[in-house]
Amino acid sequence: MKSRILIIGACGQIGTELTLALRTRFGADKVVASDIREGNVELMSEGHFELLDATDLKAVEDIILFHNVETVYLMAAMLSAVAERFPAKAWHLNMTSLFNILNLGKEKKIKKIFWPSSIAVFGETTPAHNTPQLTVMEPSTVYGISKQTGERWCEYYNKKFGVDVRSIRYPGLISYTTEPGGGTTDYAVDIYHRALKHGNYRCFLEEETVLPMMYMEDAIRATIQIMDAPKKAIKIRSSYNLSGVSFAPEDVAESIKKHLPDFSITYEPDFRQAIADTWPASIDDSAARNDWGWKHEYGLEEITDVMLENLRGKY
Ligand code: NAD
Repeated sequence: MKSRILIIGACGQIGTELTLALRTRFGADKVVASDIREGNVELMSEGHFELLDATDLKAVEDIILFHNVETVYLMAAMLSAVAERFPAKAWHLNMTSLFNILNLGKEKKIKKIFWPSSIAVFGETTPAHNTPQLTVMEPSTVYGISKQTGERWCEYYNKKFGVDVRSIRYPGLISYTTEPGGGTTDYAVDIYHRALKHGNYRCFLEEETVLPMMYMEDAIRATIQIMDAPKKAIKIRSSYNLSGVSFAPEDVAESIKKHLPDFSITYEPDFRQAIADTWPASIDDSAARNDWGWKHEYGLEEITDVMLENLRGKY
């Protein structure tokens, strides 16, 4: 039987688009989507789908053996804002799912792993502008601690056991296909929905909070690109910095007003402001650009164009 690719957490914001992109590239039969819940109509209407709990090692191994899986994209996790409410659950999900996959790599039951990290690995003591690849990392959120720990284990399993694990520190991701999963950068998706539906938005971050962001199509391209790269090109086995564009809520609002002049925004920061305050404003991703040829395509104006154009039909 030919080998397959398994996506765990395939029904989430990134997993949905990654699954569709991998099906387009390799054919639907080559890709197995899995999650603890069912996904949207497009995801469920073609290709393989398995209900799977990423923390259940036996179930994960059974699916891998059944489908002859060689490559795993592990996208299941509890995100930053939700993890602050459920620290123990977040730690259990984020770490157990990773150990399960790394151990299957160590036992040579799978050949290649993608696991996403995040800008949440950085903290208040990290230089906030043009944050270097190698720098002080003192995350202060449950989510950030789990991602930083995950990075250390990825590097350890690569160096000690030769596990081919590859990783990117995603910035905040913007897309229109699925709802975001409870992160601190979700405002940059919600704002487009509210702009079209109600003409106004109450933002949970302050107007000048600049954060690194990226359009989903760029993130999916980066994910597939790092997995395509020859093994020797991947010199960093913790996780690569990845940068698209940096902006604040007031910048998104201005860019929306160019299309919807009556749009208005108010600011009522909540607990997510404290999380955002510990994250960088911009990222130095020269290592990703040099090692495996990363290049982003979408700036803020292009993101606004594509978000409004695609969401317009919905409202
Ligand atoms: P999401 O919350 O939208 O999706 C996560 C998916 O995992 C969901 O479909 C959920 O049902 C599934 N899941 C939860 N528990 C599970 C379990 N026990 N077994 C199997 N599946 C389970 O998240 P996302 O935004 O798609 O993020 C995917 C990955 O990328 C995560 O590791 C996240 O930390 C990382 N990341 C995301 C962003 C972003 O802006 N979206 C930024 C940085 C990093």
